[in-house]
Amino acid sequence: MDQKGNIVSRLEWGAAAPRQKETLKGSARRVVIHHTALPSCKGLKECKDRLVSIQRGHMTEKGFDDIGYNFLVGGDGTVYEGRGWGVVGAHAKGNNHDSVGVAFMGNFNNDTPSAEAISAVKQLLQAGVSQGFLEQPFALCGHRDVGSTECPGKSLYTALPQLRGTT
Ligand SMILES: [Zn+2]
Repeated sequence: MDQKGNIVSRLEWGAAAPRQKETLKGSARRVVIHHTALPSCKGLKECKDRLVSIQRGHMTEKGFDDIGYNFLVGGDGTVYEGRGWGVVGAHAKGNNHDSVGVAFMGNFNNDTPSAEAISAVKQLLQAGVSQGFLEQPFALCGHRDVGSTECPGKSLYTALPQLRGTT
């Protein structure tokens, strides 16, 4: 499967240009999973506005150089390019320089992550390994494992072993 073709580019969702961009030194060793803690969305049409507003919030309210995450995934398993591979993110304070931040769009304190989203993220990470952006094996954790937050929500946190699995 051509993973690259499945990722909706920044151009496609209408991302603003980053203020600046820091390249990750070497391949990432860890993946940090987040949720956006916003209502879920499916498909480009529905997710586009949300992506634009997340980026705006990160750049204006939080003062980040760009949307904080490296990738985001919608409820239907569509993957959206955030900062992308090989770029230092702003998603887990103190842990951004050797990791990749992936956010599930939705609030998973109550909602259950969809099988499509889980499988899309697994494919994304495998593609990252084969393209040399992610070490094999890599560590995968939830935001709450490295920071004082409830992120990525109870039911997504519970689903993390599914993301670590090789099948
Ligand atoms: Zn988070």
